[in-house]
Amino acid sequence: MDKPGPSKKRKVNDENRQFQEIWTEKYFFVWSHNKVVCLICKNSVAIAKEYNVKRHYETQHPTFTKFTGELRKQKMLSLKRELIGQQAMFTKPIQDSETATVVSYEISRIIAKRSRPFNDGDFVKECIEIAAKKMCPEAAKKFEKIQLNLQ
Ligand SMILES: [Zn+2]
Repeated sequence: MDKPGPSKKRKVNDENRQFQEIWTEKYFFVWSHNKVVCLICKNSVAIAKEYNVKRHYETQHPTFTKFTGELRKQKMLSLKRELIGQQAMFTKPIQDSETATVVSYEISRIIAKRSRPFNDGDFVKECIEIAAKKMCPEAAKKFEKIQLNLQ
């Protein structure tokens, strides 16, 4: 085998880290939010390598080997639904205006605590809007709702 150069080596490592569909059936792992997540305990492994995934499955959930064939498939599907359900709950968007109110209050409080002039609110808001437009343009409108009323 040729000794790979540094760039080639990195590429190989990246490929090793890729999730493989077969892991779902073999080890109850799925690819979710850029992580390799265990369907059984919902934890993710740090490195998406078969060795890590296999070890997790074998050491943490040895009883799951009893599920085979159709039963295994059913178990996997119900765990998958469970995970999706959990994620939907976690990512359920809070009302934008409600969040903006909380954020506005928090920032106003910080400015007031530091005894900054009240018009610093406009300055801070401008900064936030720049960050929002650059970092998450699709959500930039949300940031416009921030009201820094310091009086
Ligand atoms: Zn697990």
